[in-house]
Amino acid sequence: MRYISTRGGIAPISFKDAVMMGLASDGGLLLPQSYPTISREQLESWRGLSYPELAFEVISRYVDDIPAEDLKTIIARSYATFNNPEVTPLVKQNGVYILELFHGVTLAFKDVALQFLGNMFEYILAERKETLNIIGATSGDTGSAAIHGVRGKKGISIFILHPHGKTSAVQALQMTSVTDANVQNIAIRGTFDDCQDMVKELFGDLEFKEKYSLGAVNSINWARVLAQVVYYFYAWLRVTDEKDVPVHFSVPTGNFGDIFAGYVAKRMGLPIDKLLLATNENNILTRFINASDYSLGTVVSTVSPSMDIQIASNFERYLFHLFAEDSSRLKEAFAELKEHGRITCTPDEMAHVRKDFCSASVDQAATLQEIRTFYDATGYLLDPHTAVGVKAALDLLPSDSARVCLATAHPAKFSETVEQALGFQAPVPDSVKELYGKPTRCEIMDADINKVRDFIVAHID
Ligand SMILES: *Cc1c(COP(=O)(O)O)cnc(C)c1O
Repeated sequence: MRYISTRGGIAPISFKDAVMMGLASDGGLLLPQSYPTISREQLESWRGLSYPELAFEVISRYVDDIPAEDLKTIIARSYATFNNPEVTPLVKQNGVYILELFHGVTLAFKDVALQFLGNMFEYILAERKETLNIIGATSGDTGSAAIHGVRGKKGISIFILHPHGKTSAVQALQMTSVTDANVQNIAIRGTFDDCQDMVKELFGDLEFKEKYSLGAVNSINWARVLAQVVYYFYAWLRVTDEKDVPVHFSVPTGNFGDIFAGYVAKRMGLPIDKLLLATNENNILTRFINASDYSLGTVVSTVSPSMDIQIASNFERYLFHLFAEDSSRLKEAFAELKEHGRITCTPDEMAHVRKDFCSASVDQAATLQEIRTFYDATGYLLDPHTAVGVKAALDLLPSDSARVCLATAHPAKFSETVEQALGFQAPVPDSVKELYGKPTRCEIMDADINKVRDFIVAHID
């Protein structure tokens, strides 16, 4: 399997090169040249597999430059860190299925991908005798999952900037309680945008970037998408274990990474009826699907902060397919976006979109209401991101189908909001309680690029 760029500017590369490249060197996103298809017969033969076994079946179809035994070990190590033997268990509540993706170390679905990516990086770096210094900015979830993905790993150091005092308490502790020598937390007296601007500036300094082998960790690495494809297969197999029903997935969406993995699963032949793309007030993708309106708005802060995004980076991957793999059409679309703040699709293209996707936007009041109603009906707690997807599924998807709602975070991670919805304090899991007693390490700094650069240089091996 070879990988190409959505912008059409690179010769096809191998899986390992795609992982190390991250963002394609022509500014596009990497995608496999084709999607392997899974026959119904093959799919049926996977029913009895454990999560890591299934992960190997799915992932190995995209990887031909790592020996099977090594790939199995990487997968096994990645999912052994989960606190549930099923890795992503499925529970039925209130007429919908909840796919619990939050059993990893940082209690959010990003662990599914970043545990795998961390092990993959370590494996490839060791083989190539190279090192990597990851620098990133986070508003909370990605940074903590990335830190836990690479902590203690050979050949990798990680520097994560977060806005001091502006993440949830649990998110901050999940980062600062990691005191491994290869992990540096930098809390910036400023906003998430200040953090992101400084990271961009560091990457823009090409000499600095080359000299210190800087790498990024964001949702555009193909290996992250690939790891997420697995749980669509896993959930589909579980809900159809007893009888064959139409299966829909509802996905709370920010950067379009999670739902793009669902689209890949569908392309591979997994019988998914519709992918429901659920957004909060940051609803550009909902406007696109429902009203053909992809025009940039301004980012609004909500109670589901990991979905407060206007430009969904992974959406480019989908557009590439929507435009029949035509890179010039794609480049035109992004030129239009740059010049006029929007992308226009033809009625034909929109008909294609609506074959695979439907969408709803759920505002904050409705999200809080759903947390409360769902709890009253079932005693089950939804985190605010999951609640957006559940509310959309209950409103939009037929009740005689299997409605699988992706639960992207554990409610304890956003306990402030859950409390606001319920009016009382939700139980705190032990793994979160333990965080409060742990030693922490974090460098608090002004938003001063020179100081940040000096700190990084001083702490690179
Ligand atoms: C990252 C995140 C999302 C959004 O996922 P995308 O892949 O960016 O669409 C939703 N919920 C939570 C809790 C997240 O951390």
